[in-house]
Amino acid sequence: MPTLAHSMAATTRAARTVAVPLGGRSYDVLIGPDLLSEAGRLIVGRLGKAKCGIVTDENVARHHLATLEASLKAEGRHKGSIVLPPGEPTKSFRALGPLSEQLLEMGLERGDLVVAFGGGVIGDLAGFAAGILRRGVRFVQIPTSLLAQVDSSVGGKTGINTPQGKNLIGIFHQPSLVIADTDVLKTLPPREMRAGYAEIAKYGLLGDAGFFTWLEAAYEDLFAYEQETLVTAIETSVKAKAAIVARDEHETGDRALLNLGHTFGHALEAWTGYSDRLLHGEGVSIGMCLAFRFSEGLGHCPAGTAERVSRHLAAAGLPTKLSDIPGDTADADNLVALMGQDKKVRDGTLTFILARNIGDAFIAHDVPPDKVRDFLAREIAG
Ligand code: NAD
Repeated sequence: MPTLAHSMAATTRAARTVAVPLGGRSYDVLIGPDLLSEAGRLIVGRLGKAKCGIVTDENVARHHLATLEASLKAEGRHKGSIVLPPGEPTKSFRALGPLSEQLLEMGLERGDLVVAFGGGVIGDLAGFAAGILRRGVRFVQIPTSLLAQVDSSVGGKTGINTPQGKNLIGIFHQPSLVIADTDVLKTLPPREMRAGYAEIAKYGLLGDAGFFTWLEAAYEDLFAYEQETLVTAIETSVKAKAAIVARDEHETGDRALLNLGHTFGHALEAWTGYSDRLLHGEGVSIGMCLAFRFSEGLGHCPAGTAERVSRHLAAAGLPTKLSDIPGDTADADNLVALMGQDKKVRDGTLTFILARNIGDAFIAHDVPPDKVRDFLAREIAG
């Protein structure tokens, strides 16, 4: 995995490029301020004169759609824009059907491009729609949330939710280009900014202790939108993700490390009904703290490590324990049952990402559900 020193040495220019090396499906992630107004030129320069159909949500459209449309129109590449309601319910079959038909009505052909312009919800949905439209058209990710810039826009996982669980229907479909404009983050609600930060911290926690230590010192500058810090944090995160995806595109091996905190986190999201009670990144934050406390309890990880993790995430304004979730108290049996719905279940045992230390996560395939239940019961009892 690339280290922070590697990132810092790369360049001090504001805009950076991270390559995702996947043979014929390789692409670049461009990161920096004020890229949105350049998007048309960047897309034409790298992908040729394809027509672009934008998919976005109402919040992103209100702040930024005019800039993106103007940039595509200046190159004569704008075919149309589809604006969907914001929020997780949009990642559904109910939205996918009409969206696919609208993209067809727009006249997008095999060589054209879907532009996914939004957070992870729009990226996952529009990427999936692109992957099934005319048996697959190319798409560009223009992620507008911090979470989408550091995680969901890179790696090609696309899909939707169903009543049976999150992300259970979908395909791997890699984007052809990712454009992460750090200026668009200035309109992101602060709670969403903090939730995205959980995924940045995740890269330090799973494989780069130096990055985590750097974040402990730099996070306030990041939240103050100091460009060099913000761009470096996003670049380091994307490099970490790109390296793992390049090794294991379809998650048959160590791509699962990216799920640090997610087995707990997904169960918490399901328990809170995918509502405003708990954002995805907040679930990941609590999940990572639980994973470190669980690892410590199992004797994998030195005492005090979990405390350091939760101290930093709490300082960044993130929840770190079950009692930080407003509303009803969790039930250990219920949470373990919800984990059983997750894709990370094999032959009755649970797959968890555990840690030997900060920056040293590993995949444990054979965690017995009763150990998890006992641990959660202790956490709930406080
Ligand atoms: P989101 O797309 O719902 O965006 C969060 C909120 O911020 C929304 O209300 C959105 O309208 C708003 N928003 C986004 N950008 C904005 C901006 N620049 N200014 C103002 N408002 C803005 O949620 P998210 O946190 O970006 O993504 C969560 C989703 O990503 C989940 O569905 C999760 O499953 C998925 N995800 C996918 C992957 C993957 O690898 N594909 C990885 C992690 C998460």
